Amino acid sequence: MSNCDSCASNGSCSSNDKDNCNGGIKKTMPKYGSVKNIIGIISGKGGVGKSTVTGIIATELRKSGYKVGVLDGDITGPSMPRFFGVNDKRAEMIPINKAEVKFKPVETKSGIKLISLNLLIENEDEPVIWRGPVITGALSQMYTDTEWGDLDYLLIDMPPGTGDVALTVMQTMPVKSMVVVSTPQDMVSMIVKKVVIMIEKMSIPIIGVVENMSYIKCGNCGDKIRVFSKKTAEEQAKYLGIPLLSEMPINLDLVESLEKGTAEKYISDTDEYKMIIEKII
Ligand code: ADP
Repeated sequence: MSNCDSCASNGSCSSNDKDNCNGGIKKTMPKYGSVKNIIGIISGKGGVGKSTVTGIIATELRKSGYKVGVLDGDITGPSMPRFFGVNDKRAEMIPINKAEVKFKPVETKSGIKLISLNLLIENEDEPVIWRGPVITGALSQMYTDTEWGDLDYLLIDMPPGTGDVALTVMQTMPVKSMVVVSTPQDMVSMIVKKVVIMIEKMSIPIIGVVENMSYIKCGNCGDKIRVFSKKTAEEQAKYLGIPLLSEMPINLDLVESLEKGTAEKYISDTDEYKMIIEKII
């Protein structure tokens, strides 16, 4: 398919519907419910805190009274159920007919609707040894076939990298904007920059970058001790060419709350979280 005009005639998408048409590929909405805003949280590199930032944003939005859902798009390394401390629960599969099921998302303690592959398989430590198209299919199905109900925000913890799966999300789901997550390391910035360029090529607006694990706050004097790089978060944002949303410290209390499954309770209106939310809503 070359452009939207060529496929408008077969009904796959219309050239007049720019928000829902991407290079001739129709953007789909979930089947069960209505979603007002879809926001992707992306990094390109594993371990920088993309899932943690997704969980923080979801929790803060929920605390502000919004109806929130989270789609764990990291199919091979799903971690959202652990973030919310619901890894012992399972999402119900409700048969629609002989060939189709819909998924009932697991609700977190504060009422966030969550779907993740780890909530659909028996044991959370079972590896997913699938090829790209199968992973892409599973993610698309979790997106379309989950009973989301009416949501103000659906957050997608984006699949890692700039490959097949991330591309499918950007092409087929009407993502309104993206939040980029990075850490203060040149090597990470270089990989994150690739993701920024990919998002720009897909014409999706970028809200900005959250620099995670930027520093440790000194327990005595409150000074910021930079562990990974002497460069500031502003310098990194400048290199990436996008606004700086927030710089978040290495936070062992947050880690402890994640280990106990009480992160939603722990996350409070601190400035570094509020600065992210203010730019999203
Ligand atoms: P990603 O989704 O990018 O792979 P995660 O969000 O899973 O990364 O985070 C990777 C690890 O780093 C997790 O163990 C998480 O608890 C930890 N982590 C993330 N952000 C912070 C932070 N600000 N302070 C301390 N640990 C963090």
